[in-house]
Amino acid sequence: MHPPNASLWEATAKRPPPRIPLQGTIRAQVAIVGAGYTGLSAALHLAEAGLDTAILDAESAGWGASGRNGGQVIPGLKDNPDVLAEKFGEPAGARLAKAVGEGPDLVFSLIKRHAIACDPIRAGWLQPAVSPATLRAIEHRARQWQPFGANTRVLDKAETTRLTGSSFYPAALLDPRGGTVQPLSYVRGLAQAAQKAGARLFGESRALRLARTGTLWRVTTARGAVEAETVILATNAYADALHPKLRRSVVAVPSFQVATEKLPPDLLATILPEGHSASDLKRLLRYFRRHDGRLLMGARGVYTHPPPPSLLARMSAAIAEIYPQAASLSMEYTWGGMVAVTQDHLPHLHEPEPGLLAGLGYNGRGVAMATLMGQMLSDRAQGKDVAFPITPIRPIKLHALSRLGVQATIQYLRLRDHLP
Ligand SMILES: Cc1cc2nc3c(=O)[nH]c(=O)nc-3n(C[C@H](O)[C@H](O)[C@H](O)COP(=O)(O)OP(=O)(O)OC[C@H]3O[C@@H](n4cnc5c(N)ncnc54)[C@H](O)[C@@H]3O)c2cc1C
Repeated sequence: MHPPNASLWEATAKRPPPRIPLQGTIRAQVAIVGAGYTGLSAALHLAEAGLDTAILDAESAGWGASGRNGGQVIPGLKDNPDVLAEKFGEPAGARLAKAVGEGPDLVFSLIKRHAIACDPIRAGWLQPAVSPATLRAIEHRARQWQPFGANTRVLDKAETTRLTGSSFYPAALLDPRGGTVQPLSYVRGLAQAAQKAGARLFGESRALRLARTGTLWRVTTARGAVEAETVILATNAYADALHPKLRRSVVAVPSFQVATEKLPPDLLATILPEGHSASDLKRLLRYFRRHDGRLLMGARGVYTHPPPPSLLARMSAAIAEIYPQAASLSMEYTWGGMVAVTQDHLPHLHEPEPGLLAGLGYNGRGVAMATLMGQMLSDRAQGKDVAFPITPIRPIKLHALSRLGVQATIQYLRLRDHLP
């Protein structure tokens, strides 16, 4: 039996790359801090472009959210193309919309090109409605993406029931661009591909200090340092005191998942039978999919560890509500991680000083968006123009109180979800 609070991904992933700590001072053209999708996609693209790249992680490749998430490859952002056009004007808005709409293409093409064994399935992503207002929202979203060549459409109750295997939802958006991966295998595969392309990866190497020395940046760890022309900060929700202003520009919100015991074949045939994944439109959304013959359910988590029985009871209630036929299944794996949420719900690309770049804040959509951000950070490091707007780092006011704020907001939204 596996230990409590163990992740299904750890149990089923491809082998991790060895954790080799940085020793002594090395020289690179680009130093990257954080080896999740953002950092490793940047490292892979930079190394393929022939740049000498070193990447450091405080723990190991995929230790952060990239190895813990739901593995749902979600196209686009929370904002629809019309809102992006309003926020950034044209043609910048349409350019950004096109880029984020194609995020899943990038993920699945990297998987194919580098033969990453991570169980990729591109069956489509579902966004089930839960009320008349959310039904109108998905109808609008479906129309918004069609001019970008996306075959988005709203499914009626019968089709939603068939594809989800749940009669709980009245309708759902089907976005065929989406899919699923085994997220930890995907991030480990990116690490392997980046290394193969020439990037040097160091585990157990927390960046403790970042300083300018003449024309170079120096990133210092406990046992060594990297000197580089360019530094990319890719620490997302796990950002520490290395760049305090960056850490305060996002709120780290806990998310939690459970995986049931293996489903008996008759049940397996009815739940998400064609391999779709789904994130519903409850104010406190639930996201679910299948993997390894199990049902996975995710929702907002808690900051405390180990998770309290009340959280496990809520996950059980979510399964019972959506899939009453699976209510008696035991939860064999439970785990969680931190999502980086931004105030404007957009991912952020920053260049606070020449040669210093940062990309973060995917608001729970990082499998595709962080992979895309890594590519853009690589492009920007090479002086190219990118689709994401480059914005100043704006620390959130009263950030120190954000945990309390998150908890209060979660309680409030949970209450609203239970009101008619
Ligand atoms: C439970 C959960 C479920 C989610 N589900 C989905 C989903 O289904 N679909 C989706 O699209 N997105 C999902 N997300 C979001 C997605 O996982 C993230 O947006 C994405 O993984 C972010 O990748 P990243 O590389 O930017 O950051 P991370 O993967 O978090 O990597 C940051 C790394 O930085 C390292 N680090 C931090 N500080 C330092 C330092 N000083 N020195 C060295 N290293 C440092 C950390 O060790 C960590 O490995 C989910 C997230 C969570 C937590």
